[in-house]
Order: sequence, then structure tokens, then C-alpha cells
Amino acid sequence: TTPIHVIGGGLAGSEAAWQIASAGVPVILHEMRGVRGTEAHKTDGLAELVCSNSFRSDDAENNAVGLLHAEMRLAGSLIMACGDAHQVPAGGALAVDRDGFSDAVTAKLAAHPLVTVIREEITGLPPREWDQAIIATGPLTAPALAEAIRGETGADALAFFDAIAPIVHFDTIDMNVAWFQSRYDKVGPGGTGKDYVNCPMDKAQYDAFVQALLDGGKTEFKQWEGTPYFDGCLPIEVMAERGRETLRHGPMKPMGLTNAHNPTVKAYAVVQLRQDNALGTLYNMVGFQTKLKHGEQTRIFRMIPGLEQAEFARLGGLHRNTYINSPTLLDGSLQLKSRPGLRFAGQITGCEGYVESASIGLLAGRFAAAERLGRAPSLPPLTTAFGALLNHITGGHIVSDDEPGKRSFQPMNINFGLLPPLEPGTNLKPDGFEGRFRGKDKASAKKRATTARALADCRSWLGVDRDVQAAE
Ligand code: FAD
Repeated sequence: TTPIHVIGGGLAGSEAAWQIASAGVPVILHEMRGVRGTEAHKTDGLAELVCSNSFRSDDAENNAVGLLHAEMRLAGSLIMACGDAHQVPAGGALAVDRDGFSDAVTAKLAAHPLVTVIREEITGLPPREWDQAIIATGPLTAPALAEAIRGETGADALAFFDAIAPIVHFDTIDMNVAWFQSRYDKVGPGGTGKDYVNCPMDKAQYDAFVQALLDGGKTEFKQWEGTPYFDGCLPIEVMAERGRETLRHGPMKPMGLTNAHNPTVKAYAVVQLRQDNALGTLYNMVGFQTKLKHGEQTRIFRMIPGLEQAEFARLGGLHRNTYINSPTLLDGSLQLKSRPGLRFAGQITGCEGYVESASIGLLAGRFAAAERLGRAPSLPPLTTAFGALLNHITGGHIVSDDEPGKRSFQPMNINFGLLPPLEPGTNLKPDGFEGRFRGKDKASAKKRATTARALADCRSWLGVDRDVQAAE
């Protein structure tokens, strides 16, 4: 069989290559790191996580990204298998040892007899003789290929900003001030309820800290003025600009935490750090993505009680992400309308997040493999997280109020709003529930019914796929 080419060995490309090979089709994965780096990646490993080490919530019943995890596991995802194998404790979240995870993805792909990994930069659109190819070069696509994509799509490039949070050496945190605790003592997979390091602030310390963020020197991006931030990943100083209390209601909220050194005094705000590697030698500052200048970051973050002597393994930074206007350019199976056989996957399609990028890679890989095997791609039902995310990218766009008639396509994490509502009349009341059923009970019953429907539909979709394969 002629191989399928995948360009970019990140979260999406690695998963796409795995799915193609798992379907019995040879695949060539072209990854430039090793020959050329990006502004954010630090290693040559496949599926390197550029910022946080978290795949976010692993709760498949009540959380949309947890549901996506579950669907990916059902579909034999490489990214999820390696993530599960390299978990570090993180409350209800699935966080991973970033090096162990990336090494495992690299090793699995290298060991697969149908996968060939070539370290090279692809500098233009795939040649026509590659009749089936997937571009999964991510938010930091190298310039020559980015230019070629712009030429082919003819559309104005869309872009937004994404930011990175700093990582601290654990042995430089003062644990006489900081303490271990998960919010509300939540015990997640492999966790103890004491998975985060917490640094407390009183009101005066918080006020001084917020002022320092506002006054601190920032890296400016004059040539990209007007580029929006991704809302789920706002730099900390941009949040501070929105109001003095914003951080206390966001990443620095003190709720569900009791200072082990001083249990009777409630902290006014708390900075949390999450374990970043299996050894527990590195911790990342949760929600502290920033565009402060590097010197300013060390100065200002050392104002945080417990971090006075902190040494940083990596400082934060801001990057501009480019993505294509997928709803107008791609068909329902992620294929470029102007060039059938050429698919896009990952963040370049306008999804956001490691898991979302990998899941779009998973779908693109399955679609391409099906076509190579002479079948029409089978699309996941809209009621699944897979289908909902795919629909957001390829069809479910909204019309912008500011520019009537012009489609506004914004990158998005998976969320329940992308899934269709439950059928009217669905019984949500648990058996034996007494009294009026509403508010929080009703909202969480809705989520559970939505996720149960999604998983059932996902199973039958994958079953259909398997039956078709078995019949061949
Ligand atoms: P990537 O994982 O970036 O993979 C693309 C690959 O293509 C890279 O390996 C690159 O080297 C390669 N490549 C690029 N151009 C070429 C070429 N011409 N030829 C060959 N290879 C090429 N998501 C989260 O969930 N949490 C976060 O904390 C988070 N932080 C982020 C911070 C920053 C600064 C950025 C930019 C993004 C962040 N994201 C985060 C968003 C996003 O989900 C990740 O970037 C994710 O890695 C995207 O997956 P991908 O496979 O599309 O791209």
C-alpha cells in the first residue's frame, strides 16, 4: 500500500500516524525538530508538551474534556495510552511527566513496523505524488510552509496569542511557608488529596503583587497589535488589568484550601504549583502564563510567599499562533476543499489544547486510512465529543455581530456547549429522587446524561468502523 504522509510530529501528527498504522496502512511522519526547532519546543521528542503538563479533567461523567479522554481511549489513542502510563498526581486532572510521556510516544511510533519517522522540515505544500497527506504542523508552523498554506488557501491567516507559565525547582520552594494540598482535598487518579504546592498571600501581599504585575515590564508585540488572546490562557498581567480582584477569582482563588502552617487564618489569595515530572523535582505555576520580561518574572514571582528563593527551570513567554479558517476551507472530513487528499489536523485547524489537537489528529488519521483502504470516512456522531469538536471546526461556526455576514471562527476547547441538547422529555431524575429536581442537581444530571449518550454513541460509531474492517 502507498504510504500516507503526516507532516508534524506533535500531539496531532503523532496520534494521526498511530491511527493510520493501526489501521494497517504505512505512514511516513515528517518532523522538523532535530533539524530545526520552534520558539517554544525544547526537545526533539515527538508530542512534546510546550507549556502545562496537564490534559485537564479526567472526569468522563461531568466534564467535556474528560469525556474526550474517554472517547479517545475507546478509539485506541496513543496519546491517551502514553499519558495514562506517565501520570503524575494532580487532583481530578490527568497530568503527565512531560519527558516520560514524549519519550513513550516517540518509542511507540519508532517501534511500529508501519511507521517511518523522517527528521526534516517540509518547506512547501506536499508534492502531488503524496496523494494522501495530513498537515499537523501546529501553532508554530515553520515560516516557509506557513507561507505556502497561505498561498493555497488564499484566505487571510487567523491568529491569536497563547502563553506559557513558568516552572520552578521544587527544592527552592520554602515548604515552611508553602504546603501540600489539593483544592477541597480532592483525590484524583494516583493522587493523595495533597497534590499541589500552595503559597498563601494576605491582602497587603496580594495588593503589592497585583501592583507589581501592572507595573512590570512586558514584552510588546507591536507588529501584531490587535491579535486577540485565547480566553482560556490569558497572561496573568492581562487578567490583573481587568480588575484588582480578577486574579483572586481566577488562578489565585483561595477556596478549598487551608494553610497547614496557620489553619485558623484564611489566606486572601493562593498561588498553586502542580507537579511537572515523575521525580517531583519540578513544579509549574498553575495559570501563571505571562508576557512579563524574563528579569521581571524572577523579580515579581519571588514576591510570592514561599517562592522568595525560587529558581526557575523555565520562564513564561507569549507566542502567536496561526490557524486556518477551517469552516470555509475544509470539508467535513478535514480535507482541503481545493485539494482533496490533503487534510489538516491539530491546532492549525482552530481547536485549542493538547487533547483537542490530538483528537483531531486521531480523526484525520482514521479518515485518511479509511480512504486509502477504499472506504468513505465514517464521521463521528454529533452527540459525541469527537463529533461536536469536528463540527465546530468544519461547520459549526458562528456569525460575528461586529461584521454582519462575515463568519467568525475562534479557537475553542471542547465544552458542553458544542454538544446538541438532550432530546426533549429525557428523564433526568435519578430513581428514588424525592422533592423538586432543579438547580445544581439538574445541571449535573444533564451532564451525566449527555456524557452517557456520547459514550454509547461513540461505542457504536467505533463498532461500525470495526465491523467494516472485519468485513474486508
Ligand atoms: P504541535 O504539538 O506544536 O506539533 C506540531 C509539530 O510540527 C511540531 O513538532 C513542529 O516541530 C512540527 N513542524 C512545524 N512546522 C513543520 C514543518 N514545516 N515541517 C516539519 N515539521 C514541522 N495547550 C494545552 O492544552 N495546554 C497548554 O498549556 C498549552 N500551552 C500552549 C502554549 C503555547 C506557547 C502554545 C503555542 C500552545 C499551547 N497550547 C496548550 C496549545 C496547543 O494545544 C498545543 O500547542 C498543542 O501542542 C498543539 O498540537 P499540534 O499537534 O497541533 O501542534
